[in-house]
Amino acid sequence: MSTQTVVVDGLALAQKLRKEMGDEIEKLTANGERSPCLCVVRVGDDPASASYIKGKRRAAKRIGMESIEHHLPEETTEEALLGLLADLNADDAVDGILVQLPVPAHMHANRIAEAIDPAKDVDGVGTINAGRLMMGEDGLFSCTPLGILEILDHHGIEIEGAHAVVIGRSMIVGKPISLLLQRRNATVTMCHSRTRDLAKVCRSADILIAATGRPRMVQPDWIRPGAAVIDVGVSDVDGVLVGDVDFEGVQGIAALVTPHRRGVGPMTITMLLHNTLRAYRARTGS
Ligand code: NDP
Repeated sequence: MSTQTVVVDGLALAQKLRKEMGDEIEKLTANGERSPCLCVVRVGDDPASASYIKGKRRAAKRIGMESIEHHLPEETTEEALLGLLADLNADDAVDGILVQLPVPAHMHANRIAEAIDPAKDVDGVGTINAGRLMMGEDGLFSCTPLGILEILDHHGIEIEGAHAVVIGRSMIVGKPISLLLQRRNATVTMCHSRTRDLAKVCRSADILIAATGRPRMVQPDWIRPGAAVIDVGVSDVDGVLVGDVDFEGVQGIAALVTPHRRGVGPMTITMLLHNTLRAYRARTGS
């Protein structure tokens, strides 16, 4: 029997949440408070990074959030970048700091993540926030996983007791979403490139999250009928962006699927704004 697959409109959900945050910020500024401020740091001239930052700053502006960009040349030393981060940590007017990845090869991404004040680490990249996630404490967590939870909740997907299979174990997607789902009492299986018989593991998933960057790797016969399928992956194949999931193929099998455009992406940006607003409220007590 064929299922009617719900195609998630991540942009519509993102716009709804951004409108709510915009209303909150409007109230704050009407009361004489300053706007929350997100600071984005870019090192070098990676074109994809420039475009991601443009999207983030535009989204911030639309909800009345301040955004600052520091664009440093490729040859900037790590010491100079760490110096800038120390200044931003000390700047009371800055609530959130994000260093856009990738950084140039001569820099250490982990050392840079550690240099961001955990109270301003709105991308959840430092060990303090990662540790808080692990310990089941409150903190600022990675934006894509937070966006995935919003999507699942918005569509009434039951997480408690579900078997969630996560393909990918990165620090920004696979690991944090696995921990967040486990916190919500899902039974989580985390898969990676060495997992044996991945298709069989996926077939047992009530919730399947694909975050590998391997184009259309997840095939229709990997999907348990009625499963919720979240496609995080984005790959450029001959100039065309494709996801990790065979989107057309899973129609009629999955209960829900995110498209690779207007799916998880807009929610990632939304949760960055959400984290910045949370950081602002925690720092200012407003
Ligand atoms: P990483 O490259 O850091 O991690 C990829 C993970 O996929 C690794 O754990 C790797 O396993 C696993 N993997 C790779 N090939 C296979 C395979 N054949 N079978 C099983 N597992 C495999 O990527 P990210 O987590 O940073 O990103 C994943 C994808 O999500 C990318 O396409 C990225 O562009 C996209 N993305 C999209 C976002 C959005 O907002 N839409 C936000 C963030 C990422 P192993 O550890 O064994 O190497």
